[in-house]
Amino acid sequence: MDPYDVEGGAINVRFLQADQTRAYFIIQNFNLETANSLRRVMLAEIPTLAIDVVEVIDNTSVLADEFVCHRLGLIPLNSKGVDDLLYSRDCDCEGYCDNCSVTLTLNAKCTSNEIMRVYARDLLITSNPPNVKVGQPVITDPEGQGSCIVKLRKGQAIHMRCIAKKGIAKEHAKWAPSAAIGFEYDPANKLRHLDLWYEEDPKKEWPEDHERINLDGGPPAEDEPFDYEAVPTRFFFDVETVGGLEPDQIVQRGIKTLQHKLASVIHELTGGEGADGDFGGAQSPTLNGAGYGTNDAGYTTPGYGGGASVWGSGNTGGAGGTTPYGATPYGGQSW
Ligand SMILES: [Zn+2]
Repeated sequence: MDPYDVEGGAINVRFLQADQTRAYFIIQNFNLETANSLRRVMLAEIPTLAIDVVEVIDNTSVLADEFVCHRLGLIPLNSKGVDDLLYSRDCDCEGYCDNCSVTLTLNAKCTSNEIMRVYARDLLITSNPPNVKVGQPVITDPEGQGSCIVKLRKGQAIHMRCIAKKGIAKEHAKWAPSAAIGFEYDPANKLRHLDLWYEEDPKKEWPEDHERINLDGGPPAEDEPFDYEAVPTRFFFDVETVGGLEPDQIVQRGIKTLQHKLASVIHELTGGEGADGDFGGAQSPTLNGAGYGTNDAGYTTPGYGGGASVWGSGNTGGAGGTTPYGATPYGGQSW
């Protein structure tokens, strides 16, 4: 039996809401292990770009260097073209270079009597990134300012060189592409995986989400016997982005990352033909023969096309409705 075919139907994804910041969808006829793996990969293992090294040239603001550096690290940067960058540890350079980093410079001095605010928009790219989008600070507010980094009063100045590098959230949370990922199954608790703690009346203290219960096959009948063989088959995902990647891109790259991880397991188990460190020859059994060639030539995730984003180019005002991924399907680096 196909383990993915829990109810005799094909995997089915149904979108309930989708826009530039959020993707809320149900995956049906899926299993809990894979659904949870996808959630974890989307949280922690999708490469993005974040400021990792800061050279402090001048800082006479009231905030300590470390404090400002920490804030800089948490500013979301556009990560749509991050696959064009190498991981710094895989690069031949010493420290950083244009192949593995983007340099942003922050230089501000307050000369007026009014308090000056320094925003993410004041971070200017001063290196030569591999594409025009990667590394731009994410700015979504109507004023076009982005996050506030520091306030300066007259005579105070801040001058920093920020080196943004590629990384994943498993290493540090600043590389997380998503602000939050909601994950739920069985909202009516028919499977009794939840043991609700209560003081007097669990029905009052744990209000039911009727919308989700109806989407999940309706509430249980009064005298419905407990089905101890039932397994969850329907999963509610709610993916919210911090801005560096669109929510649909987070989901697609999550699937892609998961496939790569599975392929590397198969590769190890089968003795690893092609000992160049790539996935030579190994393939996931669910991919209908899609291989993981050494340079991923022409690779596309099945059913997902070339990675075009539904949500356009986000806030950076780029051309049309595709991400740079249309041209370079998911890059060719291995892990
Ligand atoms: Zn380098």
